[in-house]
Amino acid sequence: MSDILFIYTSNGLHKERFIISIEVKQRPKRREQRLRSDQKMAAAPETKTVHSPALTYFSMLSLLSLCPPFVILLWYTMVNADGSVAQTWNYLKQHGLQGFIDIWPRPTAIAWKIIFVYGAFEAALQLLLPGKRVEGPISPTGNRPVYKANGMAAYFVTLVTYISLWWFEIFNPTVVYDHLGEIYSALIFGSLIFCVFLYIKGHVAPSSTDSGSSGNFIIDFYWGMELYPRIGKNFDIKVFTNCRFGMMSWAVLAVTYCIKQYELNGKVSDSMLVNTTLMLVYVTKFFWWEAGYWNTMDIAHDRAGFYICWGCLVWVPSVYTSPGMYLVNHPVNLGMQLALYILVAGVLCIYINYDCDRQRQEFRRTNGKCKIWGKAPSKIEATYTTTSGETKTSLLLTSGWWCLARHFHYVPEILAAFFWTVPALFNHFLPYFYVVFLTILLFDRAKRDDDRCRSKYGKYWKLYCNKVPYKIVPGIY
Ligand code: NDP
Repeated sequence: MSDILFIYTSNGLHKERFIISIEVKQRPKRREQRLRSDQKMAAAPETKTVHSPALTYFSMLSLLSLCPPFVILLWYTMVNADGSVAQTWNYLKQHGLQGFIDIWPRPTAIAWKIIFVYGAFEAALQLLLPGKRVEGPISPTGNRPVYKANGMAAYFVTLVTYISLWWFEIFNPTVVYDHLGEIYSALIFGSLIFCVFLYIKGHVAPSSTDSGSSGNFIIDFYWGMELYPRIGKNFDIKVFTNCRFGMMSWAVLAVTYCIKQYELNGKVSDSMLVNTTLMLVYVTKFFWWEAGYWNTMDIAHDRAGFYICWGCLVWVPSVYTSPGMYLVNHPVNLGMQLALYILVAGVLCIYINYDCDRQRQEFRRTNGKCKIWGKAPSKIEATYTTTSGETKTSLLLTSGWWCLARHFHYVPEILAAFFWTVPALFNHFLPYFYVVFLTILLFDRAKRDDDRCRSKYGKYWKLYCNKVPYKIVPGIY
């Protein structure tokens, strides 16, 4: 999926760049000249791509053009075609393109109103709720972005407000479910316009020196230009799109699906309860650990463009929540024992995933002076050189979860998604789409991250790979 690597060149200059071949050719003079002459540009184009340029552009253009209609087809199949891909396929075969246009809901005033009120509420919470000052990781050009860690408070206020609005009959969340297609449609178009805004902002008013153009409109639009775009000094756009809009909508929609099933049937099935509980545990974990998320690839390496921002604004509320969307009209009675087994297995996976992230962050925060599974951690001291030529050291953890595989934490992440989907049983494939998508995403991400770290740490990464030879699944891959 990705043709972009973030390269730490072997001549010591660190620069994020759009690439190219796995081999990075050394052209020190040219690089230094280019860096000096354009210090504002943190990204510069190279001439070769990991895959051929044609394949690179083909995959970017395909995702740009296929993701929006896919969201609509997914919603249509879940809500109006009994979750059956075959039923939607037969409909499209019979009615062709016109049939597809007919099922694409038009964004209505109520859909825009719901999105606007929700977005404004979340933006206000992000700005106004108190929170600890947290410093993000040092960026490629040496900046250290500062955040306000008020995610857990925003999450709590959002859910309490939403459920109270329903409880006191001020607003019924079933309205959201009943206008879901229109909401997705509005989100698709609204978010595309938002990505154009990000592109223009990246060109005319970047918030920091961590911004740059590849010189190619498609790449800039797809991958983004700014690493930390902000409105004013304090409103971080990626925190808004990824956390406060995207991840928050996951919890809000999970609750919505539950309420809709309750209002339809007068009760909530145990399958829906397991699904909703696991999704809420996952999202709660996310907000509990939100400041840690600001150190991950999404925030520290991926720029604000279609890939990340459109993904969080549209793909998360639609695809990530889709197993619950399916269950609304397909209540399954699992029985207490099976429901409990699935619930416990899911919670355990979410806990292990959390503990992997926690171990790594605690290890880095304490500069290796912590206990991992009751012992002093084993580690590799890896040096690398930044854009400005400074030599820095990072610690790589090689014990605890991190000795099993270099990206072992993706295993419980995928399994957790399986456990909140399996209450839907196996009548249809579509509820499992998210699990399949997530598996592809994380395998691709592991490759992207390994490639980036290899070029950042060079021989130290090789040493790490010798010590921890498996990429994701211990003993297998
Ligand atoms: P990580 O949190 O694993 O961060 C990767 C970075 O960690 C590397 O680039 C490197 O950065 C550093 N690192 C790598 N190995 C080590 C080590 N052994 N010791 C110390 N630091 C190391 O990556 P992700 O952002 O992919 O994952 C974060 C969480 O988000 C995970 O729980 C994942 O499952 C979840 N996730 C969920 C997704 C979803 O859609 N549901 C999608 C993606 C992630 P440096 O340059 O600092 O050395």
